[in-house]
Amino acid sequence: MARPGACEICSAFWVTGLGRAETLGVSDEFMAEIRRCRHCGAYWEVGAFSHPKVITRAQATRELPDLDRLEQGLGIAFPLS
Ligand SMILES: [Zn+2]
Repeated sequence: MARPGACEICSAFWVTGLGRAETLGVSDEFMAEIRRCRHCGAYWEVGAFSHPKVITRAQATRELPDLDRLEQGLGIAFPLS
């Protein structure tokens, strides 16, 4: 049961605990962890006080202004989302 904008693998993580997206960083301002799926490239916002949700790259960039550098640092060839 894939969430809109994401694949079944990363969507299922919240149920099965398998297929966890890679952590890109943590936003103190948004009080959330930003993750990205290495299978579909979807960005996830995992808020301290909200349910995990799929976000756009634009939103991920707002929450993590140095998103490009963080992704390059991981060395993962993410697919285009
Ligand atoms: Zn995915």
